[in-house]
Amino acid sequence: LNEELSKMLASDIDTAIEGNAEYPHRWHLGASIIGQSCLRKTWYAYRWCVAETFSARMLRLFQRGHREEPRFAEMLTMIGATVQLEVGGSQGRFTAISGHFGGSCDGTVTLPAKYNISTEVLAEFKTKATGAAFTKMKREGVALANPQHWAQICTYGNAFHLNHYLYMVVNKNDDDLHIEIGDIDTAHGVEMTSRARYIIASQTAPARMSDNPTHWQCKFCPAHGVCHTGVPLDKNCRSCKHASPVANAEWRCGLFGNVIPRDFVKTGCERWEPVA
Ligand code: SF4
Ligand code: SF4
Repeated sequence: LNEELSKMLASDIDTAIEGNAEYPHRWHLGASIIGQSCLRKTWYAYRWCVAETFSARMLRLFQRGHREEPRFAEMLTMIGATVQLEVGGSQGRFTAISGHFGGSCDGTVTLPAKYNISTEVLAEFKTKATGAAFTKMKREGVALANPQHWAQICTYGNAFHLNHYLYMVVNKNDDDLHIEIGDIDTAHGVEMTSRARYIIASQTAPARMSDNPTHWQCKFCPAHGVCHTGVPLDKNCRSCKHASPVANAEWRCGLFGNVIPRDFVKTGCERWEPVA
């Protein structure tokens, strides 16, 4: 065993993964976060107020979720289902609210005739790390056990006009599977789209879900400092009070009276003033 080389290798890999990490902010408000229990947290993310950076280990965890998708598709194909990873010719992607709201579903599945569902079924594939969360999912189902995933499923159902969902979760600890199929609550999807419209239109931070900084959800919130203890916002045009979302997923500066070039949005200018 050469400890020094082992450590060097581990460190080099972590550095490479962190170096390849995507820009910390997403351009659009994603369907994957619209079901978060705190609107303020979702708004902070949409307005790029907090730059979250992740360790190489966390980035590997996120990447694993994507890599599992072909495995789910393979299992479904084995039982005679047809898995389609492109919905509506848009590679499973939808946008709404002038391009500011959107998301990508994992795909659709057409099940063998014996399942008596003749239409395409929305597919969402997830990985779960902890035994406790997995057990809760098995006991309660996605709508109760993970409202954020449920909101995502219903938003896609509404956007792609699909009535049924297939939700498959693998337990990363032991490869156990949770499989659930049912009707999509499209009214909930409509409600989530209204929530997105509210967040996008709001020029001020929505109310806190709790004014108590020690609330368990606040304690784990990436916006905790910004929200409760006055930590300065990440500086860019979207976190500036002069910026507002406009058509074609663009942002306009009210001070200079123009649509802001996308690259410039990331930096802002010396006239930046915090939006919250
Ligand atoms: S710290 Fe709490 S109230 Fe503030 S954004 Fe996060 S979850 Fe919401
Ligand atoms: S260009 Fe300057 S003033 Fe305008 S939104 Fe960006 S940071 Fe704010």
